[in-house]
Parts: sequence; structure tokens; C-alpha cells
Amino acid sequence: LLGALGVVVPSRRFPFAFSRLARALSEVARVPAHLTPPEPPSLPPPEEGPLRVEKVEPPRALKEGANLGDFLAAYRASLEDPEGFWGGFARGFYWEKPWRVAYAPEERAWFQGGLTNAALNALDRHLPERAQQVALLTLDGEGHLSKWTYRELTELSSRLAGVLKALGVGPGDRVAVYLPTGLEAALTLLACARIGAVHVALPLGLGPEALRERLKQVGAKLLVAADGYYRRGRFIPLTQGVEEAAEGLPILWHRRGTSEFLERVSEGKPQDPLPVPSDHPLFLLHTSGSTGKPKGVVHGHGGYMVGVAWALRHLFDLKPGEVFHSTADLFWIVGHSFGLYAPLFLGGTSLLLEDRPDHPSPAAFYGRMAALGVDLLLTSPTLLRALRRHGEARPTGLRLLGSVGEALAPEVWRWTREHLAWPLDNWWQTELGAPALATPLTLPAKPGFVGVPLPGVEARVVGPKGEVLPPGEKGHLVLLRAGPAQMVGLLGGASPWQGGMYWTGDLAVMDEEGYFRILGRTDEVIKVGEARLGTAEVEAALLTHPQVAEAAAIGVPGEEGEEIAAFVVPRSKELPEELKPLLAEKLKAHLLRHLGPLPPPRIFFVETLPRTRSGKILRRVLKAELLGLNPGDTSGLEEEYGGGKTP
Ligand code: ATP
Ligand code: MG
Repeated sequence: LLGALGVVVPSRRFPFAFSRLARALSEVARVPAHLTPPEPPSLPPPEEGPLRVEKVEPPRALKEGANLGDFLAAYRASLEDPEGFWGGFARGFYWEKPWRVAYAPEERAWFQGGLTNAALNALDRHLPERAQQVALLTLDGEGHLSKWTYRELTELSSRLAGVLKALGVGPGDRVAVYLPTGLEAALTLLACARIGAVHVALPLGLGPEALRERLKQVGAKLLVAADGYYRRGRFIPLTQGVEEAAEGLPILWHRRGTSEFLERVSEGKPQDPLPVPSDHPLFLLHTSGSTGKPKGVVHGHGGYMVGVAWALRHLFDLKPGEVFHSTADLFWIVGHSFGLYAPLFLGGTSLLLEDRPDHPSPAAFYGRMAALGVDLLLTSPTLLRALRRHGEARPTGLRLLGSVGEALAPEVWRWTREHLAWPLDNWWQTELGAPALATPLTLPAKPGFVGVPLPGVEARVVGPKGEVLPPGEKGHLVLLRAGPAQMVGLLGGASPWQGGMYWTGDLAVMDEEGYFRILGRTDEVIKVGEARLGTAEVEAALLTHPQVAEAAAIGVPGEEGEEIAAFVVPRSKELPEELKPLLAEKLKAHLLRHLGPLPPPRIFFVETLPRTRSGKILRRVLKAELLGLNPGDTSGLEEEYGGGKTP
């Protein structure tokens, strides 16, 4: 795959980024002295790189017991006969009025003419069969575990819908939600959906300024907010910030340690679910803000319901009676789709955790998975890398582990397989609502490759003008078709559909067998020498070194073209200062062995990497810090990083 060097990078944004870098050349001198890397090493002989492609068959029991069945037949049917394939699956749900056409390609619309309601399908529909079944398990930041049955959730959210209505909220109105992951958030989302209102969950931790801007931007009619939340065991108060930001907007409070919220709910007048058109907005949700200002994405009731439920049953393979857990906070797309909606659509049980999954320790994570009987886990490479750094995994009883959000490096894939469960990498975006590329259980996995396009999805790797590139060449990942869970609109921002293609913004390569490898973002390509390297390629290579726990690679202006700058979190927490130069030398040699003869990379050791609140490495912040540039919109930067200070 590395033979594909010298390919023109298909990014329309790259020239801009490059000129900015060029302008910044003079500023490189401002790199702090202690960050200056030592002399370049002599080049050791090249050896086989981390892209060595390995095919791994899923364990037999998983493969043979998979809900999916014949993947290729399903894939073909999904594209050739949407009515039969998607319509057939959609008929498992309650529709007040059936759709005219399952998929209208010109408008990219799903289930047009149909009337349904996501909350009804998540809750009421199950009452005849599973009123007493646990729908949600919630573990709050103080360690209280609660169980909520389908009957309880239906009753509570129906009454909460009455409270919202009494506060003037009607169909199409936007309700901002600023609540930690847990019962109150789940109820609020479901109550909005019930009456056709649009929930807009906002990530906790936004400063008052950013919160005020979001509330204005989304035109919220009401704010449902908590007075605080727990992060790594610490209570973070929110009251003052919320009051400052709300500017007269009515607030429905959830105050911790009181029963105020649930008492208020109990006074609400129960509401019947309102049937709405398929594309009626269910929620508005922002992207992570990895590449810039977070974009507001709108999802509808009908297609979203069908798409996420299909993925949970046929990709993540949920069986009746199993417990599903998504480690993403509810206020991200992964939380919406798989923490809440999909498990409820299928009549399953979902565990919601307020605090971080590995708080107070990795041991606590393993213990909880085992004690709560979690069968299927959907998490991020960030958590997997953290667990791997810690080592000492313990048995969890997990059957399957989905990984989403960032590239799952082969080393981390292998570690996960050995210590946790079968890793199922899946690629998607807020805009797509549900996985678009993944390796279904009936196909062999290729660590480092996310997998193949899923039913409903057609994907290609193209050059800058949309010309399809042959296998093995790096280019822009585009979709020609997306599945039913795709967004129904964007709040501002340009449509990703241009010239009949959905431009994902990601750099990828496809192999001869149609497996895709995600190499990073197109506007973060590192142009080093003749090569065009994706950030994920460099990071995957670094992660094969036993001393690397985490790595982030960026391109910085060098003597000729760009150089790689790599920020490395060492695996040993107390790496002595005097060993750092030595390790840096070793890592440089290691990288060159894996990536070929390139200008010597620069290695910086850091204790932690800047992340978005959804847990993704924010490379543009590292670049800005190193080059003394403006990092752009950092409203998505996680508070634990210390507000964007130099590491
Ligand atoms: P923004 O669009 O605001 O820059 P974002 O793209 O990070 O933020 P999300 O929608 O949360 O917002 O994330 C989608 C992106 O996450 C994808 O475009 C891709 O870059 C990355 N991603 C998700 N899953 C995977 C995966 N399995 N492998 C590699 N990258 C992934
Ligand atoms: Mg994005």
C-alpha cells in the first residue's frame, strides 16, 4: 500500500492550509527550546511496515451465529431492491401510515409519505411484550445503579412530554438539552420525540460563551439543564454558566440529589405519541468539531429509526436479552444512535454511564462490564489505547466490541482481540447516523482496514475532481449512496453532496478486495518528500513500538516541504527525563523503518493529547501550538486538556 506514494492529494482545502503553513515558516523559530528534537539518526535498513495485511477469521461461534446471514446477498439486495430489503425490515416497526416509496434516489429521501414516531417505536410498541423488561440501566456519577423498565420509561417520558407541552413546546420546536448521560437525558430526548419536538443535545462543558452561542444558533425554545455533572469523580457545577448563557430562555432544571425533576415529571399530563412524516426532524446534533467549527446536523424519525436498528441487529449482532453498552456520552451521535435509540427500537437493554468508562481505574471498567453483564460494547480507540497502556486486562464476558470515532490501529486491534473481545471497527459520521463502512461478522477482518461498505452504502476512493482511483491509491473517501440513517438536513454549512458524491473529508485507500483503510483527514495530509501520508498511517506505525501508548502526527513546514512532527505519550507513566532523547532516537528510526526513507521526523513527548469532548485527537491544536498559529474554534476541546495550553 505504501507503493502508492506520489499520488496527488485530493483535497480542495489543502492549498489553503498549505499557504497558511508556508506563511508560518518564519514562525517555526518560536518552537520552545525544550521541544527541539535531537540530531537525526542514521537510517537503519527498511523492514516490513505495519501495513502488513493480515486476514483474521472471526471466531466460529460469532460467525455462524451472526444475525446477518449472507452479507453479499444482503448488500446487493439493499442497493437493487430498497423496497424489499429496507421496506421489509421497516415493516417490523409501527407506521401510522405506510410509506409510498422506501427510497427516492433523486431526493435521497427514505420512506416518503410514511407517518411514524421514533418514541412510540422505542417504547410503546414494546409494552404488550416487554413492559417489565429493563430498558435502561443507569449508573450515575455517584455510583447509584438504577433499572428502568419499558413501562416506566413510557410512563415517565409521556408525562415529561406533558410538562414540555405545558411549557409551550410543540411539534418542530427545538429543545436544548444540557444534561449528563443518564435517565433524565434519556427521558427528555424521548419526550421531545413523542410530541414531534426536536431535541438538541449540547455537549457538557461548553463555556458560557459557547453555550450562549449554541442556544442562539439552534433557536431553542426551552433549555433542560442539570446543575452539574461528574467527571472522573469530581462534581462540576453548571448552574452559574447555564444561567449566564440562557439569557431569559426558560429552563427546566434537574438538580442533583433532589427529586425535583421527577416530581415535576409526575405532574405532567400524559401525551400520546404524535405520528410525524418520516423526514420530520427528530434531533439536531453537532459534529465533534475536529476539523473546525462543529456543524449542526438534523436527523429525521423514519429513516434514522430503520438505519440504526438495522445496524444494531445485523452489524453489532444484538440478540434478545443481551445488554448493550455504548461508552459515548448521550450527547454525541454514538450515544444517540446506540446508547439510546437503537437498543430501544429493538426492545433491548442499554447501560448508560454518567462518568468516564475507565473511572476510577481500568480495573473498575473490567469489573463493571462483568458485574453488569454487558454483552456488546461500542467504544472508541481512545478507551482501548488507555486500557492497553495500563495493561493487565481482566475477563469481562464481552462477546463483541465495536470501535468507532478514530482509526483503530492494527496493534490496538490485536490487543483488543486478545484481551477483550472480537473487535468490530466501524466508520461513520454524525451526518450518517449509523455505520457506513465496517467488517461484518461473516467476513474476515483485516486489522487496520475498517472494512467494506455496508448495505445501502456505495463508497469510492477518488481524486480531487471525483475521478475514481484504482485500488491501492490514496484519495478522498466519497459515498455515492448512503443508508437510511443519513441526515435529513444541515444547520448552516455547505452540503457534503457535491457533483453526486458525498465528500466525507477523510483520506482512504481501498484494496483489491474492496476493503477500505481510513488514513486520516484529507486536510491533515502530511506531504513529506514525495509521499502523501495520512496521520493514521504515521500513528499506526508509532503504536507498533512497545513504548508508545498514544501518538498524534501532524505535518509541519521543514527544510524542503513538510516534515512529520509526532507527539507521543510514552507507555510508562514515569519515563525518566534522561531517557527521553534516547527513546526519541529509537522512535525516529522505528518510523523510518516503517514508512521508508523520509526526512527525519520530530518527536515530542507529552503526557496527554488534546481531544474533542467526544474523545478524538485534535491535531489542529497541536499544529497551532507548535507553529504559534490560531487553533480556530476550540469550543469542542475537552476540559481535561486544560483549555488548550501547550502540553
Ligand atoms: P467535524 O466534522 O466537526 O470536523 P468530526 O468529523 O470529528 O468533526 P464526527 O461526526 O463525530 O465529527 O466524526 C466523524 C469522523 O470520525 C469521520 O469523518 C472520521 O474521520 C472519524 N472516524 C469515525 N469512525 C472512524 C473509524 N472507524 N476509523 C477511522 N476514522 C473514523
Ligand atoms: Mg466530520
